[in-house]
Amino acid sequence: MLNFDTRSARDRRGEPLQSPLPRQVFGAFWSPVEPMPVAAPRLLAHSREVAAALDLDDAAMADPELLAALAGNRLLPGMVGYASCYGGHQFGQWAGQLGDGRAILLGEAVNRRGERHELQLKGAGPTPYARRADGRAVLRSSIREFLCSEAMHHLGVPTTRALSLVGTGETVIRDMFYDGHPVAEPGAVVCRVAPSFIRFGHFELPAARNDLDLLRRLVAFTIDRDFPGFAGDPPAKLVAWFTEICERTARLIAHWLRVGFVHGVMNTDNMSIIGLTIDYGPYGWVDNFDPGWTPNTTDASSRRYCFARQPAIARWNLERLADALAPLLPQPGDLAAGLDRYDETYAAEFCTAYAAKLGLRQWRHDDGELLEDLFALMHRAEIDMSTFFRALALLDPGQPQPQLLDDAFYRADLRQRHAGQLERWLQRYAARLQRDDWPRQLRIAAMNAVNPRFVLRNYLAQQAIDRAEQGDVQMIDDLLEVLRRPYDEQPGRDAFSAKRPDWARHRAGCSMLSCSS
Ligand code: AMP
Ligand code: MG
Repeated sequence: MLNFDTRSARDRRGEPLQSPLPRQVFGAFWSPVEPMPVAAPRLLAHSREVAAALDLDDAAMADPELLAALAGNRLLPGMVGYASCYGGHQFGQWAGQLGDGRAILLGEAVNRRGERHELQLKGAGPTPYARRADGRAVLRSSIREFLCSEAMHHLGVPTTRALSLVGTGETVIRDMFYDGHPVAEPGAVVCRVAPSFIRFGHFELPAARNDLDLLRRLVAFTIDRDFPGFAGDPPAKLVAWFTEICERTARLIAHWLRVGFVHGVMNTDNMSIIGLTIDYGPYGWVDNFDPGWTPNTTDASSRRYCFARQPAIARWNLERLADALAPLLPQPGDLAAGLDRYDETYAAEFCTAYAAKLGLRQWRHDDGELLEDLFALMHRAEIDMSTFFRALALLDPGQPQPQLLDDAFYRADLRQRHAGQLERWLQRYAARLQRDDWPRQLRIAAMNAVNPRFVLRNYLAQQAIDRAEQGDVQMIDDLLEVLRRPYDEQPGRDAFSAKRPDWARHRAGCSMLSCSS
């Protein structure tokens, strides 16, 4: 069974008051709060890898006691129950206190190997940070979080994980399109798992309130628990630690750009201090390549968080984190080196990732132009990103055949219109491949290791949701199974890699998503 260490609760300053009433919380990182029980919990899906990491075998996962805990109906021995206090910049504006409005930490589980994982229930009822909201989550968004966090992990992208998806047997009222038509939807609770759920916003809030004592304590706690290699005297340690955060964030964003993931709400409260993808809301996967695409309906007009702006936004968010940490340093400018490191790391990681995607042994200076031209063509011709890169591996550099890429086009008219351009680009690309003199099988293997055949396409997640809302949860497990091996061919599973069908082009959930969850 789960074994908990209560260090987090002890070392981070918590407030003594136990009440779920909404309020501003000062001088504390967290507030004690109990999950609110639900009527009829049912385990709809779980991740066997996360269960194994927590030493939970099949018998443990079938235990009604554990189900009750994962639904928020009881705390197991050692679990504590607390919501943490953070602020954040939302869509570029300082938003003040936000906090875990519907996420309740259960504590740090320590497995037999001594590894630590924080467990957190999302949707388990209101906390002091719920403001006027209900603290609940709907089944559709919970399925999306559960599946995507596991899919990202198997793609090799740093992410929070999901242990379980529990249906509550209760409904939640949501106005999905914010158009005055609220409906009752099935509710769910996801148990998220990560070494740390600390966000940029945790540091921004005490800094904004000028509570430097609290800020210092949080920095000390975070470095001590989550960055054990960064011991040393305070100013130098802080600078090195911030630089590490910049590097991790750069690597994370390069992964997103590699696999075609758009987070959708890169507010500073949704940025993990340890460089994980966190808070799966109105995220989406790029189908037809479009640098300006955002899945988030709230962001449709400004496109602040669109696919191609993610690297710049991550840097902006790191600047806000630097602002928050600066008062702890004698020379605030010291953090600028970390931001430079972000730029360098991002550029290097992006080039490495795209060299591999294109099957180039090494990125050369003039490859940027080849890639830019490809991006422009993919955008204009509405080419499916995942299908294209996967098919590109099959190309014979001695005799490039454009037909290999036919399936990557959404529209026959655009394919015809851009046929000449594609052919010319392929000629240049083939010539570039020949300069590398890399055995074909090695190149194909290298490309297939970074170009996923299976990603959680928006319409696939929506199909699993539609069925689950009708009571059939099989497709959640089917998707989870396929997404475990995203780079393998998996013959017979074509239905899970097919590009977006026409019916899904403008359907809610398949192309655009609202924040309502
Ligand atoms: P998000 O946009 O999901 O990152 O959420 C922004 C803030 O709103 C966070 O403080 C969340 O905890 C809070 N929040 C979102 N949905 C709910 C909800 N249903 N109940 C309570 N708080 C919520
Ligand atoms: Mg959030």
